[in-house]
Amino acid sequence: MSEFSLDLSEEQRDLRDWVHGFAAEVVRPAAAEWDAREQTPWPVLAEAAKIGLYGFEFLANSWADPTGLSLCLASEELFWGDAGIGLSIMGTALAVAAIYGSGTQEQLLEWVPLCFGDQAEVKVAAFCSTEPEAGSDVAAMRTRARYDAATDEWVLNGQKAYATNGGIASVHVVTASVEPELGARGQAAFVVPPGTPGLAGGNKLRKLGLRASHTADVFLDEVRVPGRCLLGGREALEERLARARAGQRASDRASGGQAAMRTFELTRPTVGAQALGIARAAYEYALEYAKGREQFGRPIVDNQAIAFALADMRMEIDAARLLVWRAAWMGRNNRPFAAGEGSMSKLKAGEVAVEVTGKAVQILGGAGFVRDHPVERWYRDAKIYTIFEGTSEIQRLVVARAISGRPIR
Ligand SMILES: Cc1cc2nc3c(=O)[nH]c(=O)nc-3n(C[C@H](O)[C@H](O)[C@H](O)COP(=O)(O)OP(=O)(O)OC[C@H]3O[C@@H](n4cnc5c(N)ncnc54)[C@H](O)[C@@H]3O)c2cc1C
Repeated sequence: MSEFSLDLSEEQRDLRDWVHGFAAEVVRPAAAEWDAREQTPWPVLAEAAKIGLYGFEFLANSWADPTGLSLCLASEELFWGDAGIGLSIMGTALAVAAIYGSGTQEQLLEWVPLCFGDQAEVKVAAFCSTEPEAGSDVAAMRTRARYDAATDEWVLNGQKAYATNGGIASVHVVTASVEPELGARGQAAFVVPPGTPGLAGGNKLRKLGLRASHTADVFLDEVRVPGRCLLGGREALEERLARARAGQRASDRASGGQAAMRTFELTRPTVGAQALGIARAAYEYALEYAKGREQFGRPIVDNQAIAFALADMRMEIDAARLLVWRAAWMGRNNRPFAAGEGSMSKLKAGEVAVEVTGKAVQILGGAGFVRDHPVERWYRDAKIYTIFEGTSEIQRLVVARAISGRPIR
């Protein structure tokens, strides 16, 4: 019997401290500049690749951690540095997670190195699922994939929306409907290799937060990809479609399942950890500010109104982290999310990030509203965490359905 412990191992502490060092020395000092420029911070990505923080080896080592915590620890620290730069570094991981979650070993080996490029030329990858008419309602996807048996190619047509790294990526992982009548269960994920004709990115969208991270629409016009680009392979897809037609549930990992949902399940605790990083940055900053700022002849922290707000911020961050770690551990150890624990972790962490950054702005007063302090940026950056990878409402739906067994709408 293993003992219950929340102590981090020496390896985990080293990883956390190493990423923290990069976040403090490289990421945070660059954050304001890239936020203002609203451009992908390629030089910072190159730095991250140089030290081994950006690349498949890092991700694979993190995933290998049997506790599941490593990627959460790294994400919290990186996003403590800056979320826009953090997402530029971690955005590729979403596409890689899709390949890892739905692809075969051969596909992993073929495509993942291309997602990251190499130290001489760093690349990014994109996971494109959302569409203009299919956001929360994944089943409404209109992008179609049709198989051309004569050439053994899949032909993709459609439009994707809000894709992180969309259009600037080397590898795009695109979800599409193969059999529309089956809704979400008739969908599959495809790798679109670098330079494939017919794929075009729209303009980089101008955003409230995460401004360094590239977000854009992706247009697919008769995009032809080789048959081997179907993640999981043809046989697995046919089996899964047959089961769906017969009204059975796809259960095993190898069968593919709903490509987009699988990717999100794998990544939710990590996304929660990103939100925690922003929240912790804001809490730490507000605490220091409150100890230093004097009004009415005493530090503002000496007022219960301020001190209690800080106590709540700390408590909520710690509570969210426990949910994130639990879900990460469960996911890594194949425990079913019987009560929607993956969704809970992301839901709580996202809402805590919004709440905590809002309180931090309040504690700084006017200083919280101006760009001389990073708190206004954290406040803007936090909001996305109640929206992407499933909105808070959708996470509540997942939890509510899981605990009730009812088709809650
Ligand atoms: C910066 C950024 C990066 C992104 N990166 C990616 C990416 O890399 N890849 C990708 O595929 N997508 C990405 N997205 C898209 C993101 O995942 C979607 O925006 C999100 O899933 C919500 O979809 P939507 O915007 O269409 O909102 P909608 O689905 O239109 O939702 C609008 C509102 O209605 C609510 N709502 C919808 N249905 C219900 C319901 N049944 N019950 C209650 N409330 C409901 C929602 O919660 C929300 O509040 C990104 C988005 C942004 C802004």
